[in-house]
Amino acid sequence: MAELIDGKRISKEIKDELKEKVAAYKAQGIEIALAVIQVGQDPASTVYVGNKKKACEYIGIKSVAYELPEETTEEELLEIIDQLNKDDSIYGILVQLPVPKHINEDHIIQAIDPKKDVDGFHPQSVGALSIGQPGFVSCTPAGIIQLLKRSGISIEGKECVVIGRSNIVGKPMSLLLLRENGTVTICHSRTKNLKEVTKRADILVAAVGKPKMIDASYVKEGAVVIDVGIHRNAENKLCGDVDFDSVEKIASAITPVPGGVGPMTIAMLMNNCVEAVEIRNA
Ligand code: NAD
Repeated sequence: MAELIDGKRISKEIKDELKEKVAAYKAQGIEIALAVIQVGQDPASTVYVGNKKKACEYIGIKSVAYELPEETTEEELLEIIDQLNKDDSIYGILVQLPVPKHINEDHIIQAIDPKKDVDGFHPQSVGALSIGQPGFVSCTPAGIIQLLKRSGISIEGKECVVIGRSNIVGKPMSLLLLRENGTVTICHSRTKNLKEVTKRADILVAAVGKPKMIDASYVKEGAVVIDVGIHRNAENKLCGDVDFDSVEKIASAITPVPGGVGPMTIAMLMNNCVEAVEIRNA
């Protein structure tokens, strides 16, 4: 039976460490504020935004909420971002994605000052990651690195296979594993003989967006399996991209859904907000 990688426990550990750092900054007169912008009322986005606000409260970061109507224009949103970029009391700016279709997501991401880009989506942040310079790193993959490190799983020299090449998970995940000296392979929808590739993995990251697709037949005995997927099944229960019941029998360690990667994403967003103080002063 695989060891469970407990994202709930590890994310709490990280948030408690950050709470102390935030208190130390407060003692120096620095108050960290995060602007959270939501356009429209997508129910899933409302839940995510609510969780981000709660995490801010827990660690002592001020959250400044912008709840904008669905019909907000791109120009209006860009204007708000411009004001927040210029506002020294704001350390991080987060626009909850997806934005309504009439707004160009790329324009929004690119308008955020890279020094306040706590989601790590700005091309400058992505470029910095790819050439090994300091900058914000996308929260979900950064959280996965923390899950591995804090579970005592070394990455150096390991065969790491990432299934998925999205800009927010697959690609930054691959770059981070490479930065940790893993030997990295990226698989995607056009990969041939997927199982042959995934069965080489010592560390397998599934970010494929297909419920329970990765069953034991994709996994090498003793591999570490990280499940990024989040889906609701027919009984409205959460499940991942990995078929947990079959894979836990052969993996050496595995993340559950819920309680694995999910809680780490918000913990790393909080981490980025705290790092924003150093990045501003760098
Ligand atoms: P995405 O849909 O943008 O990307 C999926 C990737 O999987 C694509 O690159 C595609 O090429 C690849 N793919 C699709 N079918 C494939 C197949 N049959 N074989 C091999 N590759 C295939 O998704 P995403 O945004 O990267 O998210 C992936 C999953 O992670 C989703 O379930 C999403 O809900 C979840 N997610 C979770 C968190 C979290 O905090 N836990 C954060 C972001 C995303």
